[in-house]
Amino acid sequence: MPRLRSAVGWLPKRTPMPPEGAVTRFAPSPTGPLHLGHAYAAFIAADRAGPQGRFLLRIEDIDRERCRESYIRAIMDDLTWLGLTWHGPVWRQSDHLGSHRAALKQLMAQGLIYPCKCSRGDIRAALSAPQEGAPVIGPDGFVYPGACRGRSMAEAHAQDALRLDMRRALSRVGRLSFVENGPLRAGLHVLDPDWMIAQIGDVVLSRRDMGTSYHLSVVLDDAAQGITEVTRGVDLFEATAIHVLLQALLKLPPVTYWHHDLIRDEGGKRLAKRDDARALSTLRAEGATPADIRVSLGLPSAP
Ligand code: GLU
Repeated sequence: MPRLRSAVGWLPKRTPMPPEGAVTRFAPSPTGPLHLGHAYAAFIAADRAGPQGRFLLRIEDIDRERCRESYIRAIMDDLTWLGLTWHGPVWRQSDHLGSHRAALKQLMAQGLIYPCKCSRGDIRAALSAPQEGAPVIGPDGFVYPGACRGRSMAEAHAQDALRLDMRRALSRVGRLSFVENGPLRAGLHVLDPDWMIAQIGDVVLSRRDMGTSYHLSVVLDDAAQGITEVTRGVDLFEATAIHVLLQALLKLPPVTYWHHDLIRDEGGKRLAKRDDARALSTLRAEGATPADIRVSLGLPSAP
């Protein structure tokens, strides 16, 4: 991932674990059965919390179209089978949409949000115009070319997405950085505002079908649940820049990060939810034990 290097100034250094342990979470979206990659993420979150900390379970179910109740039950069954116990009640993201909307209003009051009526097709067409050069794909998809920037919230329609004006947002905060504790890129990462404008751009904070977005909800719920260390796949490393910016704008406490590698199949392809062969329920039915699963993931036996 060479782009990461230009995203940040990087000072390799690992910070020690706080003696009281970290508060971590496993945050699956209930859109399919859990597979080995999820087991890996859940084990890492639980191991990082350790006996002194707290390991929480959050169900990220803001995408009502794709989420299913049956998958939520299956997630809890699979985690229990793996021997993982989460602290306190399960946090369902969809129960907290009111606070996500309130935060969006706070950003609107700061003049940082504008309504966007562009469809994906409009954006693709604008990006293929000859003067645009090669389209940039960042952690939030194509970097938005900006046709609706400058529209005011007074002109918003119910079907509009709401975008963050990245340049303006960055002008309201000081230097942004985050501490990565994971083994892949441990150290202090200092974010480069020019990189964020060019490579991320005006991200959608409220999707027209949801009234929120992954980026907004994840940051708010991490703060509301008192998470101190976010553990997740390295595919979300670059999105961390968006999250750190939102934390600064919304005055939320900073968290440390632990991005882990992704579990791949023999062909090197990342496991997908539709890949039933590696579903935990299949492996379990075939007689695998939780200890076998840890070994197959290269994790030390349960601490
Ligand atoms: N819900 C996301 C997923 O299932 C995880 C998001 C996160 O950990 O920040 O991939």
